[in-house]
Amino acid sequence: MAHLELTQEEPDCADDGVWLQCIECGETLAPFDEVHYTCDACDGLLEVRYADLPTWDDFSGRGVWRYSAALPFAEGVSLPEGDTQLHDVPRLEEEVGVSRLRVKHEGMNPTGSFKDRGMTVGVRTAKELGVGKLACASTGNTSAALAAYGGRGGMETLVLLPQGKVAAGKVAQASLHGARILEVDGNFDTCLDIVQDLAHRGVVYLLNSLNPFRLEGQKTIGLEIMEQFRDEEGEYPDRIILPVGNAGNTAALYKCFRELEASGAITGDDIPALTGVQAAGSAPMVEAIQEGREETRRWESVETKATAIRIGNPVNAPKALPGIRQTGGTAVAVEDDEIMDAQRSLAEEGVGVEPASAASIAGLRKLRRQGVIDDSEQVVCLTTGHLLKDPDAAVEAGRDPEAVPGTTEGVLDYLGE
Ligand SMILES: *Cc1c(COP(=O)(O)O)cnc(C)c1O
Ligand SMILES: [Zn+2]
Repeated sequence: MAHLELTQEEPDCADDGVWLQCIECGETLAPFDEVHYTCDACDGLLEVRYADLPTWDDFSGRGVWRYSAALPFAEGVSLPEGDTQLHDVPRLEEEVGVSRLRVKHEGMNPTGSFKDRGMTVGVRTAKELGVGKLACASTGNTSAALAAYGGRGGMETLVLLPQGKVAAGKVAQASLHGARILEVDGNFDTCLDIVQDLAHRGVVYLLNSLNPFRLEGQKTIGLEIMEQFRDEEGEYPDRIILPVGNAGNTAALYKCFRELEASGAITGDDIPALTGVQAAGSAPMVEAIQEGREETRRWESVETKATAIRIGNPVNAPKALPGIRQTGGTAVAVEDDEIMDAQRSLAEEGVGVEPASAASIAGLRKLRRQGVIDDSEQVVCLTTGHLLKDPDAAVEAGRDPEAVPGTTEGVLDYLGE
């Protein structure tokens, strides 16, 4: 079915078989001599490229660093991360009506989101480059991960958050793990504009997903899903559905599949259809897919209770849109009440996720109703962050506590027993 291109030619600037390459003009750059976020020649997005691509036999150990043969380093600043559960959710599977439904719960990472996978590689890269001050713009989870991994690595961390739009658990983490927190009068996209300016002026090292090294860590989500699903189900999944904000994960999964195909570890037929889900109030990727555009249009005003994906200008769109198209996937927008319903359904099966994460299940439900996904498919939904990240949203989606008297008789009476 899908066949993904990945041309390989090691340039002179490569360091130990690793280099940076522009996805637009093909310009190649030495990876660790100087700091690069985008292409010197055309400002296009950069990818980390390798002279040698590993296959399954080259992986051993657990977590993100099991896949070091597919990463720029043998080990990183680790807590450790990855090796997350691929849950069964039989009631949801039955209700939605697909042949198989598994939930990859990235909320089980050390700081409660998949961002840890990116940070273990990102902070290791910062050490390689010899930079000391790390920064990010964040809807919350990136800041929690940066604070924890930066702290672990003994580095200074600065985070820029959109004022009043970050869930309580995430601010608490960033703060206690030792980040300096700046609350910006503006949305996430404004925070990212500012921190990119700071990075270009050399004030800080940027660890948003614009940084290609972070996406290398996040690529291991795809490697893990493929191995776990194959080992437990006997084949690879037909489709992976994920929430989309800056589209870093979508880009990382696409790169994972291109590398696996190029190494011969999988064939084009094994590649899952990448399917992105956004909140209706913040859906520039869905718009670009529907309108057949190569780039997203920046949404100046965005709103959703799924604050982790409240992003109007997804920086990784040029990497992610071809991934969705070439794998035969799609993108879909869901309403906040559909997200809350999905969060409740997952929680009732014991899987506690934050609102943005539940968008994957809400998207699956919608695509089944529309007949885009048929009942024979084997699907993996990615849930990106833990329920406790956003306690206010959980309380709102859940059942209200009931006030009772402080006696056994009173409680029995109340229960009608
Ligand atoms: C960061 C984040 C996302 C968005 O991921 P992208 O890679 O930016 O698309 C989704 N869900 C949660 C919980 C996140 O923290
Ligand atoms: Zn370029």
